[in-house]
Order: sequence, then structure tokens, then C-alpha cells
Amino acid sequence: MHYQIQVSSTGHGIGAETLIRWNHPSRGMISPSQFIPMAEETGLILPIGQWVLETACAQLQTWKKNTLTSDLNLAVNVSAKQFHHLNFVEQVQETIQRHGINPAKLKLELTESMLINDIDDIVIKMNALSQIGVRFSLDDFGTGYSSLQYLKKLPLSQLKIDQSFVHNIVTNESDRIIVRTIIAMAHSLNLDVIAEGVETEDQKQCLLSNDCTNFQGYLFGKPVPIDEFEALLRKTDDQLKLS
Ligand code: C2E
Ligand code: CA
Ligand code: CA
Repeated sequence: MHYQIQVSSTGHGIGAETLIRWNHPSRGMISPSQFIPMAEETGLILPIGQWVLETACAQLQTWKKNTLTSDLNLAVNVSAKQFHHLNFVEQVQETIQRHGINPAKLKLELTESMLINDIDDIVIKMNALSQIGVRFSLDDFGTGYSSLQYLKKLPLSQLKIDQSFVHNIVTNESDRIIVRTIIAMAHSLNLDVIAEGVETEDQKQCLLSNDCTNFQGYLFGKPVPIDEFEALLRKTDDQLKLS
């Protein structure tokens, strides 16, 4: 499990997104985009997804005990097959309870492309989980069939602007307008907004001037193992104290 820092507009670390890697004995680190589709096909995504959830909840429980980390949130990617599994809601609920964590610290990331099939099942499950306090972020926003109906129907707390728009935000006016529109729409719907794939100071400034309040990307930190993540968090905190 790797953790990529998410920061607020003031530069404070507010949490992380969990991103898995497969450390293969001979081929080294394998990217999730290479094995997640296969895991979905074979059904292995169910035990993998449960392991990710367990690891995230255990981490939140550890963080709870320390003032530097007790406010951090963790965003966890959930695949379509996992979400549609019969016991998904119960599994999440049970895992949260067993680890004794605050459900509001856990954010489940669903992608827009997941919303094409069986939207009724999705609404029921999201409502059930949101009633116990779990939050939801809509990942890769703007790349799927962005039906604005979803935004009304679903108990979302955050939109995550896809990195393809962020990538060109400084150079491409259309992308900049799209990003600006997403941010304005999120705010008027009372949704939080985060930009992913922020790599340069210029991109960050452009997002800031359009009222984007949260960021994630290589500019702030790459996905890293937990000890490196915690070291980065301390460093970020110390730098802010000095400035
Ligand atoms: P995603 O959820 O859209 O994750 C963002 C991807 O962008 C990650 O790739 C991350 O390492 C990368 N990234 C972050 N910041 C930057 C940046 O500034 N520039 C660039 N160029 N890239 C950046 P990664 O880690 O290879 O993950 C790929 C995808 O695999 C994820 O896309 C997600 O869909 C999936 N995935 C990862 N972990 C899990 C998991 O635990 N469960 C499930 N179901 N899917 C996962
Ligand atoms: Ca994600
Ligand atoms: Ca994404």
C-alpha cells in the first residue's frame, strides 16, 4: 500500500489517497493499472479490495492516537465489482466498527464510469454508507458520462477533477474553462473539490485562483510507503511552522 499526500490551500497535509502496488518477486513493482483490470475479471478484486479497506482502517486507527495525524482522512479506491458485491455495505460497516475508527475519516472514491450500470443499486448503497458517516468522492470527474443527474442523486461530498484537465490547465484555455466550471459547480452544489495530478507551481496557482481548495500530485508528493508518507507529513508541517 502506498499513500499520496493531499494538501489544503494553506499547504497543510489533510490526508492521503491509498494506491496499491504489486511487488513482484522478479518483475519488481507493478502498477495497479496493469493488474486491477485482471483482478476485476477474475474476481480477485474482492479479497484485494477487502485487504485495502482493512489496511486503511488499521492505519486510521493508528493515526487516531497521535495529534499530528488524528485529523487525517484516507481516500480508498473502490472498483465497480467490489461495490456491487452483495455484502459491500456490511463489509465496510463491519471493518469500520472492528477498528473503532471515525467513519467520516474514510472516503470512498468511485469513478464516474462506474455509474453507468445499475445506478439504483449504487444510490441505495451510497445512502446506507453515508448514513453511517462514510464519505464519497467522485474520481476522474469530467472524463466519463458526466450526467449532472448523478450530482443531484448521489450523497457525494467531493468531486475530484481528473488529471487530464489539470495537466493542460496552464496552456489550454478549454481545459482551464472546464476546470473553472467544475469548481464553480461543485461549490454551488456544496461539494468539496480536489484536483489530482498537480505537478507544477503554475498549475497550483491557476487552480488556486479559480478557488480550488485541495490538491494532490507530484508537486506535493508521489505515492510512497507509510513511513515515507509520515516523514513527508512532518516535513510539510515543519516548513509551514517556519514560514
Ligand atoms: P487513480 O485513482 O485515478 O489514481 C491516480 C493515479 O495518478 C495514480 O496512479 C497516481 O500514482 C497517479 N498520480 C498521482 N499524482 C500524479 C501526478 O502529479 N502526475 C501524474 N502523471 N500521475 C499522478 P497509480 O498509483 O498507478 O494507480 C492507477 C489506478 O489504479 C488508480 O487511478 C486507480 O484507478 C487504480 N487503483 C490504485 N489502487 C487501487 C485500489 O486499491 N483499488 C482499486 N480498485 N483501484 C486502485
Ligand atoms: Ca483515485
Ligand atoms: Ca483519478
